[in-house]
Amino acid sequence: SDNTVTSGTNGNVQVVVRVRPPSNREKDQGYIKCVGVDSVSHSVTLNYRPQPRTFTFDYVADEVVSQEEIFAAVGKPITDACLQGYHCCLIAYGQTGAGKTFTMEGPDPESNSGNSPGFAAQSKANAKRHEKRGLIPRILEYIFQKMSSEKSQSFKDVEFVVKCSYLQIYNEQVSDLLDPASLNLTIHEDAKSGMYVEGLQEVVVSTAEATYGVFRRGSENRHVGMTAMNMESSRSHSVFTVVVESQRRNEGGVMNRRTSRFYLVDLAGSERQKHSESAGIRLKEAGSINKSLSALGNVIKALVDISEGKIRHVPYRDSKLTFLLKDALGGNSKCTLIANVSPAEKNIDETLSTLKFAQRAK
Ligand code: ADP
Ligand code: MG
Repeated sequence: SDNTVTSGTNGNVQVVVRVRPPSNREKDQGYIKCVGVDSVSHSVTLNYRPQPRTFTFDYVADEVVSQEEIFAAVGKPITDACLQGYHCCLIAYGQTGAGKTFTMEGPDPESNSGNSPGFAAQSKANAKRHEKRGLIPRILEYIFQKMSSEKSQSFKDVEFVVKCSYLQIYNEQVSDLLDPASLNLTIHEDAKSGMYVEGLQEVVVSTAEATYGVFRRGSENRHVGMTAMNMESSRSHSVFTVVVESQRRNEGGVMNRRTSRFYLVDLAGSERQKHSESAGIRLKEAGSINKSLSALGNVIKALVDISEGKIRHVPYRDSKLTFLLKDALGGNSKCTLIANVSPAEKNIDETLSTLKFAQRAK
């Protein structure tokens, strides 16, 4: 359908823009909307002065597009590619507060708690929360649902193993969110199986709920660890990886084994650091964030150039993030970048810089 992001004009990288609704606070303060979306031409117009700026993408979502619609348009096709054996990545990009975590996970776990409504109200709140769950829980449900429906076709001889891991990159250091004592891990490349992180814990999972439980546990570790060390989680990249191994017997009776890795990435905030904060450790952080994000932009740009027939070196090794994601960014893989933006005029400069970043990937 017209709403589904399948194959684009530029090879394996799809670029999507999502504009979040204004917050209650923005509404109370009489915010000015500066972003318009045209879903027919897949374009976003920024009311920039003196001249409005229009950008076109593979898919654009305005504030009324639901989590379910985002899943149908963006989550489902890339998950299908993963189940077909492609390495995939789904990356949320944007300034802090633009909706990356909402898109990937759903609403903040804390919002809604605090007051304790009666049982009926609570279950209604739960239903609402369920409806607002983000891409990661929906993707996990879809993966297990598709595997079980394939397995239930009794004429097929097929087996699946699913594993997951969860890491964070902070100041160009990789740490294991499922094993918080495991810091500064090394990324390696194996000639046969591709990229891996040495010593990273991998958990074998057999249901969507269990997989999401592992994800929640890692997120909790992330939150606790960052708070204890007085670090800002908005300055780290988190990467939840789902590995799908399949074995299918083909017509000749030969076993066909495939492994695909699906990286679900919630990036550090793309905002430029304010000068007042940019001293000492904060400055180092800002440098590291910019290094990974600009490296990501450069890698995607080089891949787009290659898909257009130009000969380019792809600088995967310029950051931990791009090196880790190498198999899922280049070659026989699928990547979707979701650029999240705020609708408010006060964020217009960051929104312009996000749209420019996303445009380079096109
Ligand atoms: P980020 O992860 O980019 O810093 P968040 O995902 O935390 O941003 O979003 C900031 C706030 O806006 C959160 O309270 C979140 O629930 C809310 N929000 C973001 N996008 C949406 C959306 N599409 N619909 C409703 N609320 C949203
Ligand atoms: Mg976030």
